[in-house]
Amino acid sequence: MPALAFANVGPAEPPAVGAAEPALAQAEAVLNSVFGYKAFRSFQADAITALIEGADVLALMPTGGGKSLLYQIPSLVRAGTGIVVSPLIALMQDQVDALKELGVRAAYLNSSQTPDEQRATERALLEGALDLLYVAPERLLSERTLTLLRGAELALIAIDEAHCVSQWGHDFRPEYRQLRQLADHFPHVPRIALTATADARTRDEIVEELHLKAARRFVASFDRPNIRYMIDPSGGASARERLWKFLKAEHAEDAGIVYCLSRRQVEETADWLVGKGRQALPYHAGLDPLVRQRNQRRFLNDDGIIVVATIAFGMGIDKPDVRFVAHLALPKTIEAYYQETGRAGRDGEPADAWMAYGLNDVAMLRNWIESSEAGEERKRSERQKLGALLGFTEMTGCRRKALIGYFGETYPSDCGNCDNCLSPPETVDGTQAARKALSCIYRTGERFGVGYLVDVLTGKDDARIRDNGHDKVSTFGIGRATPALEWKSLFRQLAAEGLITVDLERHGAIRLGEACRQLLRGEAQFRMRKERPAEPKASRASRTTARKGAVDVRAEDRPLADALRALRTKLAKDGQVPPYVIFHDRTLAELALFRPKRTSALGEITGLGEAKIARYGAALLEVIARF
Ligand code: ADP
Ligand code: ZN
Repeated sequence: MPALAFANVGPAEPPAVGAAEPALAQAEAVLNSVFGYKAFRSFQADAITALIEGADVLALMPTGGGKSLLYQIPSLVRAGTGIVVSPLIALMQDQVDALKELGVRAAYLNSSQTPDEQRATERALLEGALDLLYVAPERLLSERTLTLLRGAELALIAIDEAHCVSQWGHDFRPEYRQLRQLADHFPHVPRIALTATADARTRDEIVEELHLKAARRFVASFDRPNIRYMIDPSGGASARERLWKFLKAEHAEDAGIVYCLSRRQVEETADWLVGKGRQALPYHAGLDPLVRQRNQRRFLNDDGIIVVATIAFGMGIDKPDVRFVAHLALPKTIEAYYQETGRAGRDGEPADAWMAYGLNDVAMLRNWIESSEAGEERKRSERQKLGALLGFTEMTGCRRKALIGYFGETYPSDCGNCDNCLSPPETVDGTQAARKALSCIYRTGERFGVGYLVDVLTGKDDARIRDNGHDKVSTFGIGRATPALEWKSLFRQLAAEGLITVDLERHGAIRLGEACRQLLRGEAQFRMRKERPAEPKASRASRTTARKGAVDVRAEDRPLADALRALRTKLAKDGQVPPYVIFHDRTLAELALFRPKRTSALGEITGLGEAKIARYGAALLEVIARF
């Protein structure tokens, strides 16, 4: 039975878990008394008991699924210290802060510490005074650390972000490959590898590279039911204008992330949002590291900040109350899209994944693939992945079903929580229209961009068209009956299907793709998605949860909720931790709704374990008593 560090938080008793009790009962007791949660999710109970009983585990769970408890609870139940390998220093710090708030004796070893701090941590480990120790991979494998660990009692070894061993993955870290040695160094210590990557190939690589063949495998559903997937189709306004409309309607005060493709787009978009009155901060590799760090800190510590970032931002950001993730440019693959959107709503409350993209994004991504140094096999796989992503963006069925299906899971019905479910798009036979567009490209010599082509198709009176003699070609004006917006949408759909390509070196000139021949010869059909009205029919009003703040708070509870939020802000400032480390929004909402009057009733509230009740209970009761 490990010693829980309750001494520093007052008179609360350690949970009554004895060695004789079955593993599950011990795990439940810790879940309840330390974390303040009532029940395990998904396979948490099984994986945790397996580890407590000494088995190795491979756990695959989406972001926000609750992976950390898988090693945190067994570390508290088993004798000795749980060692957690984690690639990101910032993340370690956050986790350790949060654990300390819970009264758990946690620490980390990394290069941000002074030698004195490191020695103090090492001593604590050897004295058995730590429940959990976070270590960076390269540090873990140093001779010094290995010797240190041999002298300590180890409860388990957890390898977080285990997909970093995979060369195919997006986060390959060579030092992760070395972690295979752990099996030899500590053969009797149970190990758990964790990842949110759903890719089967990566999974196999983890098992192989980390010597986990005998490990028990647990795979959770990759569905994130609280995330609403939306891809804005309206080609008219700029992506930015559409973003603004979305933010105004759905997230006027919420924190979120906006992903862009380039540093310049990041800077411009952040400035633009600031001009609109939002607190928006840029984040990209070209910024001074100190500025980057400061912006990240503000995102974590202040309410309602938007970070505008390149994809480099997000790994290791554990902020649970990110209410939206918006893409102003196409992500590279479905995997990347899933990972990036997965940063929304880790707390399980409603969140949005929103995207707008244009034809040029498609061209840019195609270009990157073709001009990269990668071998042909790799390029082929990348082309396939881009194709899958484009198919996903232009699809008309349930997006969740497709997304989950892509990861090899079956989703039983339409989800009712994506744009296509909420406002089903109409499809029409677009074969004729597509033929017109393709022949217009051909007749004008495959030299012009979409704007020009649409002008020719709609028969616009334009000097440049006359100069080129394109008012005389047979396709001039044959598309008059169709609005320009729909032609633009058609071009995007043709590009998504590979029927046309965009030449970025020649100012976005549209060319005919290989695949268009069949269509031109009349051997293939083309189904086209009709532009729908910019506002989905079912927007705010239909939401089951109010959008101001993460969690549903009744109007009559709002004053109390605001007072509790103010208290949280103060406690966070005092403790120098982010507000969500003090309590999640869910906890605030439950407090405002149930208004507990006594300390004993606080235990019923989600997220209030013994340490937090001991530390903050009195202050909470006092605020509640005022209402
Ligand atoms: P992951 O690492 O898988 O992205 P986390 O471990 O950060 O997810 O968990 C996401 C959130 O869900 C955290 O706030 C965590 O405390 C919470 N959580 C995890 N398990 C449970 C549970 N059984 N009941 C309630 N909340 C939970
Ligand atoms: Zn759906």
